Amino acid sequence: MLNHALAESLGLDATILAQPESHGIFTGNQIPKGTEPIAQAYAGHQFGHFTGLGDGRAILLGEHLAPNGARFDIQLKGSGRTPFSRGGDGRAAMGPMLREYIISEAMHALGVPTTRSLAVASTGELVFRNDELPGAVLTRVAASHIRVGTFQWAAAHEDTAALRALADHTRQRHFPEIADDASRHIAFFRAVMHRQCALVAKWLHVGFIHGVMNTDNMALSGETIDYGPCAFMDVYDPSAVFSSIDRQGRYAYEKQPEIARWNLARLAEAILPLLHDDEKTAVDLANEALGEFEAIFQSHWLAGMRNKLGLMTDEPRDRDLIHAWLEWMQQNRMDFTHSFRALSDEKSLATPCFADDAFAGWHTRWHERLARQPQCFTDVATHMRSHNPAVIPRNHKVEEALAAVSDHGDLSVLERLLCALAKPYADRDDEYTCPPPASTTPYRTFCGT
Ligand code: AMP
Ligand code: MG
Repeated sequence: MLNHALAESLGLDATILAQPESHGIFTGNQIPKGTEPIAQAYAGHQFGHFTGLGDGRAILLGEHLAPNGARFDIQLKGSGRTPFSRGGDGRAAMGPMLREYIISEAMHALGVPTTRSLAVASTGELVFRNDELPGAVLTRVAASHIRVGTFQWAAAHEDTAALRALADHTRQRHFPEIADDASRHIAFFRAVMHRQCALVAKWLHVGFIHGVMNTDNMALSGETIDYGPCAFMDVYDPSAVFSSIDRQGRYAYEKQPEIARWNLARLAEAILPLLHDDEKTAVDLANEALGEFEAIFQSHWLAGMRNKLGLMTDEPRDRDLIHAWLEWMQQNRMDFTHSFRALSDEKSLATPCFADDAFAGWHTRWHERLARQPQCFTDVATHMRSHNPAVIPRNHKVEEALAAVSDHGDLSVLERLLCALAKPYADRDDEYTCPPPASTTPYRTFCGT
């Protein structure tokens, strides 16, 4: 499976890459000229516990300059053992790699910063998990693979020179606008924090649950990375968790901002020696910056929610209006994506699930609010449709596509799903926009090993 559109935007020739002779590049059997593959070391807090890690099943082929000057890492995931594989085989199974391909491409189309998937190549070998599974390698394209855990690795080695070099490199790569002066490291930290706030707010706006927000899975670039047990929620439930290993709900939907802040505190700790020679002053600087997290996150969250509800002006009571809507959705177990989208279409609101006094009351209040802004409802509805997707990678559709591949070797279901996901804001009303049929078994996800 090759992502032609992505290949072209990177300035790569998709027709050459699609030829059988190129297959070896995407399985790691053929090293492209000029590449010096490396596995990166990192550390990280996994479910709150600190540990040494590293690319156990990933190999960075190198950096690539796109025609527009943007620099990308190109990495193979699942290509075999590395010095960081510990007990693992360094390999990946086809199902989870195709799942990452689907969801990361969907996130990109939704406008959420993310690593992308250039290809999934079958290795022709089996990998052994609970079952024997077909092996595959995913080619991941990322602004970089520098993680909070990369900084934690340098800090754990008490190597301030390495830490400073890493901070300077990351700042120059991802935040070139920050001046190279004495306060550059705290400015860098704030910039990272701003991007994480914007990112996690976007996750909440589309109903995305990352599932494994360990510090090694948080990229300094502000891209979503590491699509293991992630999932989109159907029914709106702030405490939604899908990952089979997240038994405490540490990474539940509504916990994500708090966890992002916790992870940023670990980054701040790691870079303390760079912030000031005096430790107390360094801690004060870090705490002052971290103290801004909540207000920054809330402003991103509120701006996005205003867009979703078509609130084109700012009124102080908007937050109450938004919360009242979310509470109504929660109490009535409404589908998150479908309900937001329905608000811009009077016909959808005429269906029985909205025939409810509490909804009618909220709807009147919302329309009174809309009447106080200059835009007409037609314009507001168009604006709302560009912020409320009709199509998300719903769990049952993703599973259906993966099952067609694994049961019958049929890629057509997956290709149709990818087509629908590529235009998530377009008007449609079909199998891709429909919430799943009611089910008694909760959806569960697994780390993609
Ligand atoms: P993740 O939960 O995907 O972020 O992975 C956590 C750590 O386990 C990372 O350091 C991975 O490189 C490593 N890992 C995951 N799967 C494998 C595997 N099959 N073989 C070796 N290492 C792995
Ligand atoms: Mg990871």
